[in-house]
Amino acid sequence: MRKKQFKAESKKLLDMMINSIYTHKEIFLRELISNASDAMDKLYYHSLQENLALNRSDLTIHITPDKESRTLTIEDNGIGMTADELENNLGTIAKSGSLDFKNNSEDKEDVDIIGQFGVGFYSAFMVSDKIEVVSKAFGSDEANKWTSSGAEGYTIESCEKDTNGTIITLYIKEDTEDDDYSQYLEEYRIREIVTKYSDYIRYPITMDCSHSKLKEGTEDEYETVTETATLNSMVPLWKKNKNEVTADEYSEFYRNKFYDYEEPAKVIHTKMEGQATYTTLLFIPRHAPFDYYTKNYEKGLQLYSNGVLIMDKCADLLPDYFSFVKGLVDSEDLSLNISREMLQHDAQLKLIARSLEKKIHSELVKLMKDSRETYEKFYEAFGTQLKFGVYNTYGAKADVLSDLIMFHSSNERKLTTLKEYVSRMKEGQDTIYYACGESIDKIDMLPQTEAVKEKGYEILYFTENVDEFAIKIMNEYDGKKFANICTDSIELDTQEEKDALKEKNDSDKDMLDSMKDAIGDTITSVRFTNKLKNHPVCLTSEGEISLEMEKVLNQNPNEDQKVKANIVLEINSNHPIAAKLEELYDSDKDKLCEYAKILYAQARLIEGLSVENPTELSNMICGLMV
Ligand code: ADP
Repeated sequence: MRKKQFKAESKKLLDMMINSIYTHKEIFLRELISNASDAMDKLYYHSLQENLALNRSDLTIHITPDKESRTLTIEDNGIGMTADELENNLGTIAKSGSLDFKNNSEDKEDVDIIGQFGVGFYSAFMVSDKIEVVSKAFGSDEANKWTSSGAEGYTIESCEKDTNGTIITLYIKEDTEDDDYSQYLEEYRIREIVTKYSDYIRYPITMDCSHSKLKEGTEDEYETVTETATLNSMVPLWKKNKNEVTADEYSEFYRNKFYDYEEPAKVIHTKMEGQATYTTLLFIPRHAPFDYYTKNYEKGLQLYSNGVLIMDKCADLLPDYFSFVKGLVDSEDLSLNISREMLQHDAQLKLIARSLEKKIHSELVKLMKDSRETYEKFYEAFGTQLKFGVYNTYGAKADVLSDLIMFHSSNERKLTTLKEYVSRMKEGQDTIYYACGESIDKIDMLPQTEAVKEKGYEILYFTENVDEFAIKIMNEYDGKKFANICTDSIELDTQEEKDALKEKNDSDKDMLDSMKDAIGDTITSVRFTNKLKNHPVCLTSEGEISLEMEKVLNQNPNEDQKVKANIVLEINSNHPIAAKLEELYDSDKDKLCEYAKILYAQARLIEGLSVENPTELSNMICGLMV
């Protein structure tokens, strides 16, 4: 028999487990029990699909501690594993990312990584020198034994086993000065761990427990009897009353079941009665899973029919914009062997989905109101998804989502909601101002920002690509239009100021036109503006496509057809450069052309755009210097 090596990543993880200084070593039992329970779920599900006569009540997990041989055995009669499955499931860690996570995590102490990323089985090496897994797959007539003493590798050989299922034998480590491993062979301790972590497992977890009993026919003689006891209550957490469940229990359940190392930002536990009767237990995570913004992420809630899992990820229960929600729905109204296709058309399910959407929305609004800090943390993780929601539904869901979205703002530079923005609007203000840029600092540096702030208006900072697209689709909020302060549609001036500006633009029209001609067709026009305070120039755009949208849309390498904004070069009418240009128009038209090009290049740089002809620019500047 050849000894096989673990895959590299698995080996690292094993080392971590074996040399673990982890304080909650007891969780290894939770991991093994949860694997056993999954294996029985799989078998039961399979039997429903295939119409096999299987009695759910025959499925059990049995634990046997043996102090003499220092072994702890966990046995299940679930689906079992073939030799290949033993090899693939226990020789590799399928879910990558877990180790990277461990290495990058700053807060190692508080993070319960072990067991949260599909490393469950390996956690048994925290307490064992050697592990044997004897397994027989359902429907197969061969059984196999997987054995490993840790990092050196593992062996798989065929063996005898009558029935389907898996028996895991842990050879418990000897006690050390720091660690009491013998506790895992004590009945009371096993019972304690099972009730702590696995009480809601819906299969009986049994153990032969011995206790002393009055001997029959005697009055003071005791004898030790052994009886099989069920250690868990089997009532699923969500079936309990809310007031019977502690915050810790919800958190433990969530972390264990949905592989998170942090507690949830919000727990939603409700029983609904009416057109549809169901219980739902939902969790809003605090941070995005590592694959959340990738194609690999699958949304969905677990679907139970009266306590029995019928689908692991029912996508139809969650709209895309709430795809971050984890949890389950348990309904008595659903039939056990309903297929995926049938579910899609199930009216009951549609009803549930609609009411869940409302519930999630109202709970998020509540979270924002009651614990702003937690909401903001949640929003940092999932805000982008909510904004995509506005965009992808063509604004149809703007009503639901506009209450939930936030932006950074010039007011205290904190996240603010649209509602808060509107409540702070100046008298007479009928527009919500925003500016786009890579970062808050970059937006602050935009020449236009200064003048708008100067006039006492708050600006929303759009730093994500989706931001402007989302609000363009919303069109307005609470009757207020949105305006990009870098486009020409904002009106901050008094009538007098406007008239004066118009006059200046009219009287200098020839000069401005010749500047535009010098710059060329990349821009639509050149004009004076009042919207700059200290800066000499800026770029704005006219029409539907803003400069920021042009940048985003043209990032797509597959699009041959590049989108173009109508660009306008604006010159600060109150800046000394304005008078200088007028002077040059009279005295030196060639120089005016050069100035026009230099000003345009400056404005492009400020916008974060590249200069079209850097050599020419450099020569022109040198020409002015010498
Ligand atoms: P996870 O349970 O998160 O997938 P584990 O390392 O705990 O990760 O287990 C790896 C895989 O081994 C499981 O996904 C399952 O396919 C298989 N497995 C583990 N324990 C059992 C068991 N008792 N019965 C059947 N399959 C099991």
